Amino acid sequence: MTARILVVDDIPANVRLLEVRLLAEYFEVLTASNGLDAIETCENGKVDVVLLDVMMPDMDGFEVCRRLKSDPATSHIPVVMITALDQVSDRVRGLEAGADDFLTKPVNDLQLMTRVKSLVRLKTLTDELRLRASTTRNIGIEELLSRNFASADTTPKVLLIDDRKSSFERVQKMLRGSADLDIATDPHAGFFQAAETPYECVMISTGFADFDPLRLCSQLRSLDRTRFVPIILLAEQGEEGRIVRGLELGINDYLMRPIDQQELTARLRTQVRRKRYNDQLRASVTQTIEMAVTDALTGLHNRRYLDSHLQTLFDRAVARRRPLSVMITDLDRFKTVNDTHGHDGGDEVLREFARRLRKNVRGIDLACRFGGEEFVVVMPDTDGAVAEKVAERIRAEIAQMPFAVGQDGKTIEVTVSVGVSSVLKGVDSAAGLMKRADLALYEAKSAGRNRVVAKAA
Ligand code: GH3
Ligand code: MG
Ligand code: MG
Repeated sequence: MTARILVVDDIPANVRLLEVRLLAEYFEVLTASNGLDAIETCENGKVDVVLLDVMMPDMDGFEVCRRLKSDPATSHIPVVMITALDQVSDRVRGLEAGADDFLTKPVNDLQLMTRVKSLVRLKTLTDELRLRASTTRNIGIEELLSRNFASADTTPKVLLIDDRKSSFERVQKMLRGSADLDIATDPHAGFFQAAETPYECVMISTGFADFDPLRLCSQLRSLDRTRFVPIILLAEQGEEGRIVRGLELGINDYLMRPIDQQELTARLRTQVRRKRYNDQLRASVTQTIEMAVTDALTGLHNRRYLDSHLQTLFDRAVARRRPLSVMITDLDRFKTVNDTHGHDGGDEVLREFARRLRKNVRGIDLACRFGGEEFVVVMPDTDGAVAEKVAERIRAEIAQMPFAVGQDGKTIEVTVSVGVSSVLKGVDSAAGLMKRADLALYEAKSAGRNRVVAKAA
């Protein structure tokens, strides 16, 4: 794992100390000695995680954090606050400023690496989502990502896998009121339970008599349903080596026994908050991408999707010397449908038309609503003769079965005109293909509508 870490501290010796440790783990390190420089570096460079000293002259760490988190250009960069004392009040102030995690001075090596690696992983995920979103060229995505997701303050559902009664009872008592906690005393049963239930965090004790808890971590990470669930390891003093290996396997955090209640609830809250943020982000991105390429009325792809895919399908057909056909359909005298049955009646007809269209083409065909009452179907591996047959089948099915409009069983007759074109060997382009289909459609309209015209290759 490699990433760029920005270390911010007004005392050069402190900066150097962290820098050396991070470099030893092959991280890239940037440094800043005051808040303004730190903010500038975040704005300009590709910073993956910020380690931020709280006590600085001029602008303190809280203020720096607040500014980073309120600027859409930097709000997605995780910030770890470094406090001089393990003071609860500092943590609360840090949380309010939007900090993602905390470390206390003197900074413990293992804690440093745990927090940094866990946050780098989170950042990688966020970056991936941002990248995926931008490749669909969706304009609304920046706004979406900068939106501050309020994590609902519901009690998180948590699983503790631990076979020692005294131990899990203690955790149970500590989390009373702040988590809905299930206990699994058998690690195998615990694994299945974690796979079947949507937990927001899984805590795993290292204290099993005859079971390697890290095996459980790696199993959880390799299963789709549990890949993103935060894992907190409850370890014994002296188990640093095991924790380091756990980190490589993807655990998110750890607690050392004896467990401190404040530490436990704070760590758990951080993990749950992060998971909720990521879940929402992932869901929003998926939804936004779908919305960007889908026609809301018919559920078919929209014109934007066609524009970005037609060229690909065309290039592929040419490269493989395979045929490719396109049909453009346009409902006949559709304006009168709207005029007679209202816009809602028109919408019903469009939906039903889309349903029949989809039913009559293959899964690999690209069917989309081109706009208004025009639809386009791109048919890979299909020559002109076959495409014409498909078009004729669709035309007939539209003309033969009247369309229902409204609630009272009324039906209307609808017809469609279709233009078909196929790739010409050697001298063609995607635009040419569309243009010929459009000309064919125009001919179908002029010749009296309710018919198919194909432009022979
Ligand atoms: P032609 O046979 O020459 O194609 O005649 P037409 O009336 O179908 O053609 P025209 O392009 O003049 O009119 C298309 C109509 O489709 C006009 C517009 O109001 C209607 N329309 C476009 N989009 C929608 C929609 O989403 N819903 C509804 N109900 N009507 C729409
Ligand atoms: Mg039209
Ligand atoms: Mg029309």
